[in-house]
Amino acid sequence: MIITKKKKKEDILKSLGAAKKIYLFGCNSCAQQCKTGGPEELKDMTKFLTGDGREVLGSSLVDETCYRQAVRKEFRQHEEAKEADAILVLACGAGVKNVAETAAEEQVVMPALDSTYLAKVERVGQFFEGCALCGECVLADTGGICPHTECPKGLLNGPCGGVADAMCEVDTDNKCAWVRIYDRLKIQNRLHIMETPTAPKDYSIPGRPKKTVIER
Ligand code: SF4
Ligand code: SF4
Repeated sequence: MIITKKKKKEDILKSLGAAKKIYLFGCNSCAQQCKTGGPEELKDMTKFLTGDGREVLGSSLVDETCYRQAVRKEFRQHEEAKEADAILVLACGAGVKNVAETAAEEQVVMPALDSTYLAKVERVGQFFEGCALCGECVLADTGGICPHTECPKGLLNGPCGGVADAMCEVDTDNKCAWVRIYDRLKIQNRLHIMETPTAPKDYSIPGRPKKTVIER
């Protein structure tokens, strides 16, 4: 799940500039769960912009704004979206891009949110960074504990010199990720794995923008 946070309203107004007619897109998936882009937030943004003297022509709550076909469908079904000077998107960056690529070129499309990280969900409303999308997963060698996301320094080959009483020197409430990795591998009788250093990531491999096309 992609975690998003709201941009400051004054920054949104600055980005909107003189745009008078606004259309809103929300996302009924991740942003709805984060309480940043669901039905309540669309309602709140409509009220805020109307109070600022803007005309909100309407809004679309898309099941998944990161799904281009769903965004295209909203544009087909909502003529008013095509009449807006500016479209404000309450979704992750992928959702904003989908809207920007679907809107007319003269329409200004802007984000109302900042996308911050990919989370695992503990339970409703409790999110923890799950994966930094490093492209070369090492969880098989680390007992399922991700050194990229659970060590603040992202160290790949054991702890830094700051670990004290098994606790992390950066986030002192947390046990050092590498102590946890050691403990887990010890329980699994796989400590020998730590004798082989993990090679540096090959950052030359994945170019940008990344793409995956699966043949069907
Ligand atoms: S090592 Fe961590 S950041 Fe990399 S793919 Fe695995 S879980 Fe994600
Ligand atoms: S103490 Fe452990 S978790 Fe904290 S920064 Fe150092 S190696 Fe990473």
